Parts: sequence; structure tokens; C-alpha cells
Amino acid sequence: MENREYEHKRVYVDQNNPSLQRIEKRCVNCGMCMNVCENTVGLDHRYEREDIPLCINCGQCIMNCPVGSLATKFDYKRVLNILKDTNRLVAVSLSPAVRVALGTEFGYKDGENFESIIPTILRKIGFSFVFDITFGADTTIMEEANELLLRLEKNHSLPMFTSCCPSWVKYAEMFHPELLPNISSTKSPIAIESTLIKTYYREMNGIEDEILSVVVAPCTAKKAEIIGKDTDYIITTQELAMMMRECDIDFDMVKPSDFDKMLGKGSKGGLIFGRSGGVMSSALSYLYYLVEHKNPPLDFFNLDIRGPITESSYKIGGKILRIAVIYGMKHLEEFLPKAFEFDFIEVMNCPGGCIGGGGQPLVPIGLLEKRREERTNGLNGDKNDILYCYQNPEIVDLYSSYLGSPLSNKAIHLLHTAHEDKSYLIEKI
Ligand code: SF4
Repeated sequence: MENREYEHKRVYVDQNNPSLQRIEKRCVNCGMCMNVCENTVGLDHRYEREDIPLCINCGQCIMNCPVGSLATKFDYKRVLNILKDTNRLVAVSLSPAVRVALGTEFGYKDGENFESIIPTILRKIGFSFVFDITFGADTTIMEEANELLLRLEKNHSLPMFTSCCPSWVKYAEMFHPELLPNISSTKSPIAIESTLIKTYYREMNGIEDEILSVVVAPCTAKKAEIIGKDTDYIITTQELAMMMRECDIDFDMVKPSDFDKMLGKGSKGGLIFGRSGGVMSSALSYLYYLVEHKNPPLDFFNLDIRGPITESSYKIGGKILRIAVIYGMKHLEEFLPKAFEFDFIEVMNCPGGCIGGGGQPLVPIGLLEKRREERTNGLNGDKNDILYCYQNPEIVDLYSSYLGSPLSNKAIHLLHTAHEDKSYLIEKI
């Protein structure tokens, strides 16, 4: 690492970082990237080793670089090249938080939901199948809520932590390996979606050819999460806008169309995964249904549990469930000393959750918080008749025709993962 003193005013971006790049000629060495990494995200760079950067790939430094020196590591040109080969089958899936942010790239208000036209945009770009990660999010809840129920019944490995944010999981693997048994084994929604495209969708439709899986996400950390896994490429919201410009797609002229069937429908609970507190609300809703055998009170979607550190408790099945919603590793560290007083904890890295991800459109730094709020309101305002994962007809089909039940052997094999102790990567001082 050259000139370490200089580098220490800035976050170190390794050439092999799958998520970020630094455009050196633009850097003015202002220190904003290190400031946000240490004081908002919460990474302690004293632990950094000479040969291994500490980055958890979240891209908050990109959002807070005033001169555009830090940027996403772009993969969209590689995807466009693959799409030129019309013999290849390439599926694309849309993450929840992208639909309420893409419009700002084309002069619309942040928070406006463009879900109805994005499938058409993706087909115009050349993708063979167009799916919605809200389906993957619903599947995540089907598995994760059952996993939580099992842990509660057996009173083991509690509290359970959510697993869908790769920056948080990487942070735990490096700094808190003692927590790994407490992190849900359920794969993230994008990982579940890609796995099911390559197994369930192919098998049920008799497709013999390989299907590549591309995901459009608000998140730069997902580019690191997918290495060696079923998702082939992550394209950020910014990159989707770049693809549209390269393909001469006029945002204002696009007509609405639907996602493709089987993995293209999600519930409201799946959609609000895109903001802090969403995974918790969705998981509590399904847990309530599992235990009480009736639909939950609607106010599970309106809980005031948005972080950065929110603690609460709810009565389900005669038992008090203690929950917490956290975003930012800095806030997590503040909270951890009392974590074992709780049953279930949602952890996301980015401020406000994925709506504030490092792959979202750039906005003036002073407006970041307002824009995040607008995107959250955009997700909350969605009108979807299907409220809960277990009411989603595509989820019902998935389990009745393919997986059997949540936590079945097949579901465990396809939809669960193990977390790895990576504490050797850091230098404890
Ligand atoms: Fe990615 Fe969401 Fe985690 Fe941010 S909070 S790193 S956008 S998964």
C-alpha cells in the first residue's frame, strides 16, 4: 500500500475490489470518504492490514465523495456484450429499492415508483426473462420466519440476526465471528432468486440451456456477495440508467408491462425489504400467522422501527418477543452489549436500509437524507393487494409444486447457506 499516511486520509480501494473504484485524477484528498467510512458506517481502520483492505463494499464513500472520484466498479458493459449473443438465455431481476430511485436519473422526483415500466425497459435492453426480487424476498421470509420459530421453540442461538445485507454479514465474519451461529442461515433475496431461476424455473419449464442471472440492485456490496455463487452479475441503479442511455431508451416513452410469471410477483412485505425495518415487519407478520393461525394486525407494516437503533417488543402467541432494528455498523457496536436481551435483530448497513445503498443515483450530499425519506415513502405507499408472503400465489406454487415446505431438505439445500469466520483478515490490536 503506497504512501500509507496519505492513504489513511482516504479509504484504501484495492484494484481487486469488486464493488468500488477510485478515479485517481479526480481525488482532492478531502478525507470525506474516510470520514463517512469511520463515522457513519463505523469501520475502525486501525484494524486494516497492509495487504488486505477493510472495505465491506457498501459504497457509502461513493455517495459521499464530493468530486466523483469514487465510483461503482461497473459491470454493465460486460452484460450488454453478453446480451448481444442472442443464443444465450439471460434473466434479470429487479430489487425493491431500485424502482423508487431510477426516475431521478431522468428528472423525476425521488420516491416515484416506476415498477410498471421497468420490465419493458429490461426487455428492450435484451433480457430473456424479467423477474422481481420481491418474490425472492417473500421466499426469504418463508424460510427465515420458520427458522426463527424453530430457534424460539428450542431456545437456541438467540437472538437471531437477519442475513440479507452482505456488508453486515462480511463485517460479522471479520469482527464478530462469535455471532455467526446467531445469523440466519437463509440466503439473501437475490441469492434465492438466482438459485430458483437456475433450478425451479429451468426444471419446471423444461429449459435445458444454462440461464445467466443478472440482478439490478441498489447495492455495491452485492457485487462482492455473488462471487462464486448463483448470481452472475449485479448491475446497480446507476448502471441501469447507463445501459438505458447506451441502448437509446427514452424513459418518457416506455409503456408498462408485467414481470414474467413464476418468480415475478411479490407481496407488500417483500417490497418493503428495501427500507430499514422492512424485513422485521415482514418476518413478524408471517411469524404471527404461523403462531396465531390468522392474519396479523395490519399495523405490523406501520411499526415505528426504522433504526438507526430501535428496540421494541410484541406479543405473539402469548409470548413477548423482543426485537431490534439497527442500521450502520457504528450503531450496531453501540447496541451489541445488550443484544443478548433480544430475540430477533434486523441489521442493515446503509442509512435507512437499501434505499440508501451505494449503487443508487448520486444526489447532492446535503440532500441524501431527504431523498432516502422520499424513497422510503415511495415503498410504503405501494398499493399491493397481496400483503404477506404466504398469500402470494407464486410462493404457494413454489412450495406446493417444488420445495414441499419451508425448511424441507430441498429448501435447506437450495435456500440456506453457511457463514464463514474471516477474522484472520483483520489485525487485532
Ligand atoms: Fe446493500 Fe442494502 Fe446492505 Fe446497503 S443495506 S449494503 S444496499 S444490502
